[in-house]
Amino acid sequence: MTELAHPPAETAEEIATIGHWIGGRPVRGTSGRSGPVFNPATGRQSGEVGFASVEEVDAAVAAAKEAFATWRAVSLSKRVDILFRIRELVHDRREEIARILTAEHGKVLSDALGEVTRGLEVIEFACGIPTLLKGGFSEQVSSGVDVYSIRQPLGVVAGITPFNFAAMVPMWMWPPAIACGNTFVLKPSEKDPSASLYVAELLQEAGLPDGVFNVVQGDKVAVDRILEHAEIAAVSFVGSTPIARYVYETGTRNGKRVQALGGAKNHMIVLPDADVDMAADAAVSAGYGSAGERCMAVSVVVAVGDVGDPLVDAIRERLPKVRVGDGLDPASEMGPLITREHRDKVASYLDKGRDQGATIVADGRKTAPDGDGFFLGVSLLDNVEPGTDCYRDEIFGPVLSVVRAETYDEAVGLVNENPYGNGVALFTRDGGAARRFQFDVEAGMVGINVPIPVPVAYYSFGGWKSSLFGDLHAYGPESIQFYTHGKVVTSRWPDPATSKVDLGFPQTR
Ligand code: NAD
Repeated sequence: MTELAHPPAETAEEIATIGHWIGGRPVRGTSGRSGPVFNPATGRQSGEVGFASVEEVDAAVAAAKEAFATWRAVSLSKRVDILFRIRELVHDRREEIARILTAEHGKVLSDALGEVTRGLEVIEFACGIPTLLKGGFSEQVSSGVDVYSIRQPLGVVAGITPFNFAAMVPMWMWPPAIACGNTFVLKPSEKDPSASLYVAELLQEAGLPDGVFNVVQGDKVAVDRILEHAEIAAVSFVGSTPIARYVYETGTRNGKRVQALGGAKNHMIVLPDADVDMAADAAVSAGYGSAGERCMAVSVVVAVGDVGDPLVDAIRERLPKVRVGDGLDPASEMGPLITREHRDKVASYLDKGRDQGATIVADGRKTAPDGDGFFLGVSLLDNVEPGTDCYRDEIFGPVLSVVRAETYDEAVGLVNENPYGNGVALFTRDGGAARRFQFDVEAGMVGINVPIPVPVAYYSFGGWKSSLFGDLHAYGPESIQFYTHGKVVTSRWPDPATSKVDLGFPQTR
């Protein structure tokens, strides 16, 4: 086997050994435990990723702890300097990052590039850290006494991330975390571990001191060590709801600050007055983009009143035009799923749906490309009943369900009764209905004629109910709160009578 910090994306015929990044250098895994990494478009194994032992996690935390003492003291202007260089390098190498994502995740290259771009926006947000960290000041609260507030970094913080956005979701976490002066230990998904190692190299090239950003690969052993390690102050998690709940409960029990973003079942409600073509375009884009493996994917279309038949017809017409294939082929619009097991599980919902009363309008098992890739074609179920498996479960694949509802109230009731509350969308021409909807609906991110309402980087991202455990959302202003402690200083000084002359231009570095 060849050892590489990150495997070549396209031509890997050999199986690359994928390790960790600790203290500014690649580290080969020594635990003796590992897992396979596949190219989902071909079904071939491309890598073998080492799973960290407790000692390997401890080594990463020790490197981060050592780096913290100096990193927190680096001036804001120097930190911004490094962040700008990180921004430039990630921007310049976005194509390379996207190719690594496509090779291990399977999403089409244009989608992978879009993912990197959304991550870049968070890096750009973090470049504004001097403004974001500004505190308050109250003069003369008492005679000769002033009060001011400051925000200080927590120390070593960790991120645990899912397979579906192997570059962007870590970028929701580490840019604000390190901009605030923390040091970071990332545990990426073991299914597509290489993008984080490539990014680690870029951060070093940008001048980030060794130990500020570390990567440990692994599974539950690494996650559990992160959750119990006394030197880790806070954990950001993104993944499925059962693991998010576990991470939140275990991490907080061990005294850590935790934000744990979970799964989703995103509804798109279409009112009778909606523009049917616009709604159908949106349903297809948001239902099948990235093969439905997005936490903000639309998985249920709720057709209200008589819009149901024309809407299902319009969606059905569009499906044969969706080109499914290898994500590196520029003609492909939708790639494979992440693993063979996941593809088979997703496909099983078609028979389950039919057995529980739904109509299979499009069966992706019949339209998947030939070969050993983990493909499933676009699939559509109509007349799905709430309470059935297809309606209840987060399928996380290219299976879109249509539920028919009589009224607006019935449709909103479905969303509000759902245990998840990540994203939701309403399609209508009626501004009054839209305004009522944003008031009524119980979800964290709401789209009005926008099917995937992922907030821009200067707002924060997060759902309600079982889609988020914790108080603060990811990135944006809430991330600055999450990654810092507040401190309030009350001060009194004797009047200064000293001063000196210095004609030099004031320096900050
Ligand atoms: P996952 O929960 O299986 O894995 C997420 C992380 O947890 C990975 O790093 C994994 O190694 C680790 N993990 C898995 N099982 C574990 C266990 N038993 N104990 C400890 N750690 C464990 O999620 P996934 O399959 O990688 O990603 C898909 C899920 O993530 C979907 O449910 C999707 O909705 C969700 N997601 C949510 C958001 C959001 O913002 N809410 C964003 C992206 C993905």
